[in-house]
Amino acid sequence: MSLVKKLVDTQLAEAGIEVSNALCEHFAFTRAQLFDIVRIGEISTFSELIDLHGSGHGCDICRPVAASILSSLGKGHVLDRENAALQDSNDHVMANLQKDGTYSVVPRIPGGEVTPEGLIAIGQVAADYGLYTKITGGQRIDLFGARIEQLPQIWKRLVDAGFESGHAYGKSLRTVKSCVGQSWCRYGVQDSTTLAIDLELRYRGLRSPHKIKLGVSGCARECAEARGKDVGVIATDKGWNMYVGGNGGFTPRHAPAPPRTSRPKLVRATDRFLMYYVRTADRLQRTAPWLESVEGGIDAVRAVVLDDSLGIAADLDAAMAAHVGAYEDEWAATLADDSKLSQFASFVNAPATPDPDLAYVQERGQRRPAAEDERAVLIAGASIPVRNEEVGV
Ligand code: SF4
Repeated sequence: MSLVKKLVDTQLAEAGIEVSNALCEHFAFTRAQLFDIVRIGEISTFSELIDLHGSGHGCDICRPVAASILSSLGKGHVLDRENAALQDSNDHVMANLQKDGTYSVVPRIPGGEVTPEGLIAIGQVAADYGLYTKITGGQRIDLFGARIEQLPQIWKRLVDAGFESGHAYGKSLRTVKSCVGQSWCRYGVQDSTTLAIDLELRYRGLRSPHKIKLGVSGCARECAEARGKDVGVIATDKGWNMYVGGNGGFTPRHAPAPPRTSRPKLVRATDRFLMYYVRTADRLQRTAPWLESVEGGIDAVRAVVLDDSLGIAADLDAAMAAHVGAYEDEWAATLADDSKLSQFASFVNAPATPDPDLAYVQERGQRRPAAEDERAVLIAGASIPVRNEEVGV
C-alpha cells in the first residue's frame, strides 16, 4: 500500500496536482511536524494537541501516532488518564492480540541471555496457565493463549521472577539479537553478548514510528544476522562495524556499509541515529524506507549522526539521555495501580468470567486454538426452561 501511495503521489505531483502530506483529516501536519509541535510546545495530552493544532476528535490514524509521540517524549504511562484511549489494541492491554481473542505475553530477555532459573520461572508460568510456548526470532520466549483477565496475574508472576515488559506489543525497541561472541565462541573477537544486553537495556521502552530491532555479532561470520536489523553491529579485532537500515519483513534489505568505531562512539552514534529516526520518520515507516525518504539519503543521515551537520547532535544526545533516565517497566507500574488493572476483564459486567467461546486442541504436546472443523458440533442450542402450568413444573 505504501508503494501504491508513493506511485500515485508521484504521478499527481508530476501532473501539477498538490499532494497533501497531512497525517489525516484532523491534522494538517506530517508526523515529523507533529513531533516537533508536541516537543517544542511541551504538549502533554492529546486533548491539548488537537485543541491547539487540529480539528475534530481524532481517528485511528492520528490517535495512536499522538500516543506514540507523547510516549517517546516521556509524557506518562501508556495507560495514564486519556493516554489509554489513544492506544492501538495491543498497546491498550500491553499484550499481543491473537486470532482467537486471547493474548500473547513476551517478557524481555536482553540479548537473548537467560538463566536456568529464569527459564524455569517462565516455564512454570506457562504450565500453570496452559500457555503455548515458542522461541521467537528475537531470542526470547512467547507465551500464547492468555485470557485478558489472566494478564495481570501472569505478569505479577513474571515481574516477581525478575522479568519486565518486552514491548512486543508496541512500536518500539523489540530485541537486540546476539551471538555468544568471544565468551564462548572460538571465532569471536569481541564480547557481543554484553554489548547486546547493554544496548537493549539502553533503548528498551523507546516508542518509535515502527518497531526497532538491533543485532550484534561477535565476528564477521554474522551469526546474529545483524545486517538485517535496523541497527546492526559486527565485531572486528579493531572495534565494531555499525550498519543501519537493515530490515526483514515484506522488503528485506541489507544495511549499507558502515563506519568502524569504538564502543563509546558506537553507542553515541546509535543514540543519535535512533532519536533522529524517532523524530523525523513517517508513521509506520521503518528505518530502511526512512533512509530512502530522507533528502540526501544515508549520506545525509550519516552527516547528522557523525558530523553534526544540522547542529542538533547535543539535542539528540540529551533526548536519549532523558529517555534512558526516565525508563520504567510498564507492566510493573501497571501492577502497582488499581485504576489501570480494572480494564483487564473479558466482560465488564462479569469481570471474573472467562470467554466461554475459546476452544483448543492438543498438538505436539501443547494446545493451540481449534480450527472451525475441530470445534465440537453444537447438536442442540441453548434451551429455555418453560413453566408447564398443567403439571405444575
Ligand atoms: S558470529 Fe562469530 S563469534 Fe558469533 S557465534 Fe558466529 S562465529 Fe562465533
